[in-house]
Order: sequence, then C-alpha cells, then structure tokens
Amino acid sequence: MNTQIKTAVLTGANSGIGLALTHKLLAEGYRVIGTSRSGQMADFSHPNLSVISLDVTDDASIAQAVAQIGQLAPSIDLLVNNAGVGSDLGTITPERSALRDTFATNVDGTILFTEPMLPLVRDGGQIIFLSSKMGLVSHAAADSPAYRISKAAINMYAAILAERVAERGISVTPMHPGWVQTRMGGDSAPFTTEQSAEGLFRGIQARPESGKFWNVEVDSLLA
Ligand code: NDP
Repeated sequence: MNTQIKTAVLTGANSGIGLALTHKLLAEGYRVIGTSRSGQMADFSHPNLSVISLDVTDDASIAQAVAQIGQLAPSIDLLVNNAGVGSDLGTITPERSALRDTFATNVDGTILFTEPMLPLVRDGGQIIFLSSKMGLVSHAAADSPAYRISKAAINMYAAILAERVAERGISVTPMHPGWVQTRMGGDSAPFTTEQSAEGLFRGIQARPESGKFWNVEVDSLLA
C-alpha cells in the first residue's frame, strides 16, 4: 500500500451526502472504505474504493465491519460518521417508535461504531460527525424532536470525545452539512449533495478547533 495516500472510512457511503463525499474524497486522492447496509454501492466502483457492510444498529455487524476495516487499513486518517436517519422530521410530539429508531442509529449506533474504531484512527487523524444545527439548543424549534435530540446528543459526544483523544492529536468535529437535496433533506433543499460535499471537505481541511461545531453553510464555527 502507498503510505502517502490518506485513508478515509465513511459510513452510509451509498446515498445522499455520503455518496457525494465519497466521490469528493476519491477525487482528492483519498483511499475510501465506504460502508452501506447492503455491502454494495449502487452503480459505482473505483480502484481506491472498498465497500463493506455495516448496520450501526447491529452489534455483530459493527464488530465484523471494524475487523474488516482493521484488515484493510490499520491506520485511518479520517473517520466520517455520516449514517443517520430522520424518522420524525416534521412531526411535533415525541413518539416512542421514532425516538427508539432515531436514537438506535444516530446516537447508540454512531457511538458504538466510533468507540472500537478509535484504535484504528492514527494519532493526528480526524473524526467527523454529520450532525445538524437542528441539534443546537440555540436553534431549538418544536418540530422533529427525536432527530433534534439525537443530533444534540452527538454534539455532546463529539465534545466529550475531543477531550479523550486530545493527547493523541486527533481532532473531532460535528458538522452541519447545510440543508441538502437527499432522501432525508427532500427536493426543495437549497444545497446539492455535491455542494455539501465540497463544503464538508473545506471543513475537513480547515481542521476546526476540536470538539466545536462547524457549519458548512458559512464555513465557520457556530456556537
Ligand atoms: P440519506 O437518507 O440520503 O442517507 C443516509 C445514509 O445513512 C444512507 O447511506 C443509509 O444507508 C445510512 N444509514 C441509515 N441507517 C443506517 C444504519 N442503521 N446503519 C448504517 N447506515 C445507515 O440522508 P442524508 O445523506 O441527507 O444524510 C446524511 C447525514 O447528514 C445524516 O446523518 C443526516 O442526519 C445528516 N444531515 C442531513 C441534512 C440534509 O439536509 N440532508 C441536514 C443535516 C444533517 P443505506 O444506503 O444502507 O440506507
């Protein structure tokens, strides 16, 4: 393996923002290990892309994926936790099924995948979370309670993790990717997935102060 090539692991690489960021990272010369629940990428292959199966709500799937990633690349430069669901977007009252479904992926799944990945992230590497400004207390609104709370939880996890990995020089950044035209974001969103991926990559390159929230819409930190 060429040690000059940076390696990224990206969850949910098969659609939406994850797919566009996969294209962007490959175009920037990264080797990408992308995950999808099926273990396939629809209609896309690249010599520097490996695709593995991962369902972050399934402990056995997480263990298998982490083992596979360790075999493919024992030293990861960039981990992008992109996989997420928006089960109650637009609804008002917290429903049991939406809370459980949303937290299982966006919170428990994201954290339980990130933890065993930590030894694989190289010292000085980067960890990104696809968060949302909907999860900031300063942007609170009545709609989408499970989704908002799940992203708030990830913002807190990112801040905690930043402290834990600081001595290894790893930076941790929750990012708002803009409102983006995807299965989740819908057709009337202002950002294309390509624009969002460009913005996310600018944020990765900017390497913001670890633990702080980065907003792609304005290319800066957001309190
Ligand atoms: P999409 O619905 O297009 O993509 C979501 C991705 O998450 C899919 O690749 C999906 O995989 C994956 N995924 C869902 N559940 C699981 C699971 N249990 N295990 C593994 N992977 C899973 O949404 P977006 O591209 O819009 O969203 C990507 C991220 O960006 C999310 O975290 C979202 O919250 C965040 N975000 C999006 C915004 C927007 O406007 N679109 C705004 C703010 C944040 P599969 O292909 O297998 O279904």
